Amino acid sequence: MSKLKKRKFIFVVGGVLSGVGKGVTTASLGAIFKAKGFSVTALKIDPYVNVDAGTMNPIEHGEVFVTDDGDETDQDMGNYERFLDTDLYSNNYMTTGRIYLSVIENERAMKYKGKCVEVVPHVPEEVIRRIEAAAKEKDANITLIEVGGTLGEYQNLIFLEAARMMKMRNPENIAVVMVSYLPVPSHLGEMKTKPTQYASRTLNTAGLQADIIVARGSMELDKPRSEKLAVFCGVRRENCISAPDVASIYELPLKMEAQDIGNKLLKALKMKSVKTDLTKWKAFVSKIENSKKEVKIAVIGKYFGTGKFTLSDSYISVIEAIKHASWFSNVKPVLTWVDSEEYEKDKNKVKDLKNFDGVIVPGGFGTRGVEGIINAIEFVRENKIPYLGLCYGMQLASIEFVRHVLGKTKANTVEMDPKTTEPVIHINPNQESNVKNHRYGGTMRLGAYDCALRYDTKTYEAYKQDVISERHRHRYEFNNDYREEMDNAGLQVVGVNPESGLVEIVELKGHPFFVGTQFHPEFKSRPMNPHPLFREFVKACIK
Ligand code: GLN
Repeated sequence: MSKLKKRKFIFVVGGVLSGVGKGVTTASLGAIFKAKGFSVTALKIDPYVNVDAGTMNPIEHGEVFVTDDGDETDQDMGNYERFLDTDLYSNNYMTTGRIYLSVIENERAMKYKGKCVEVVPHVPEEVIRRIEAAAKEKDANITLIEVGGTLGEYQNLIFLEAARMMKMRNPENIAVVMVSYLPVPSHLGEMKTKPTQYASRTLNTAGLQADIIVARGSMELDKPRSEKLAVFCGVRRENCISAPDVASIYELPLKMEAQDIGNKLLKALKMKSVKTDLTKWKAFVSKIENSKKEVKIAVIGKYFGTGKFTLSDSYISVIEAIKHASWFSNVKPVLTWVDSEEYEKDKNKVKDLKNFDGVIVPGGFGTRGVEGIINAIEFVRENKIPYLGLCYGMQLASIEFVRHVLGKTKANTVEMDPKTTEPVIHINPNQESNVKNHRYGGTMRLGAYDCALRYDTKTYEAYKQDVISERHRHRYEFNNDYREEMDNAGLQVVGVNPESGLVEIVELKGHPFFVGTQFHPEFKSRPMNPHPLFREFVKACIK
């Protein structure tokens, strides 16, 4: 393990357009430096005014990724955790809103000792303070900082200024990677460099120069085009890295390291070359390629009619967790998104679920499509189709059981019907006042909580641990008044929080696999170490 006296920082910025894989590129760089023996951490900067991602519509913005310490962050944080195989914390995430909130709170607390507090330098100073705190927390040799969106955005100026200030102070400790998109217009059939040239100039205007350009596009970056980038963007030709679309995101570290990107960055940081050991990644990628036999999984929820692109972003951790578990068993997951409203319009349609090996109901909020989900759960419970319910999926499985097995037909969640006479899922008084007073931001039950498991259950067999810790994000809870009766009738309470007595996991006795969790196991699944519940769920699907 190489020890550095000074910490090094690599900023990853985006040119031309967002959504081209800057997060995965950052995560892949992390994996590469880890494979070189460095200790690495990564931060995500989001340029918007929201204090966190918790209040944003996931359909528009993608998944809200929850950290152990209960921060509601951007989905890229999930990529970092998965590629770096490490837990990250609130220190690793910031937004413009969060920065300004701290600066203003500090000003009100007289922490600036009567000075005039200004956008520059005080705002970028707060950005730098947070970057350094995250590096220190993990004692990182290398800290990656991804600036969200693109560099031309007005709202990104304070973050680019922070990078410039850090570079001014310690030029040898800062490197800049620009991930840019090179379009191939169909009428030309040729990759165009001009938008990247403009992006490079915008970066220069902010006082920064890229050390590396990662050229994203539908095809490989060829020699003539990398020569153009070199001349017009002031980057060495060999530092223009080709990053065409890949079949699986997990190939990207291999693809980039084949071009020695890690050592090129070390050189920019005035460091010696270090060997990279990507043996495990290579074995993992070939396992992915060799997983050919299909396992068919239906994911049921609302809003699933909005097109594949936005959806895959809204449930990215669920999708990745399914993939990890499938590859572990050498099968290829085929996901079908089912709009639960279909099962409301026509209850008979649930029979189509017979065509799947397993069913997942992921987290969700609100009332739309809920009755359709309950219809689907009833079918998979009765027909012994493997089921995994995540958060809302656990709450709705409990309601379905109380309605149809215990015969309390009015059973509901107060989220659906605040006046229900059978509140199987209810709300604690604390949360009630949050909602009443419109205190929505950061007030759910968030982050890691312990859960004690019951022996002789599939859940225990999966974890093989007495007490586990999992991440939460919900406002409503299982009502313990229903616990005994439900448990006795077969939907067993197999995981409970030791401090509060809150029900965290239910499992149906005598079913091949029927488990619901109040928490979100998907956040803790890692590529080479799938989550135990997803792993056992997929195994049940294959059977
Ligand atoms: N809507 C439910 C709640 O707030 C479930 C939340 C979720 O699935 N993340 O408790």
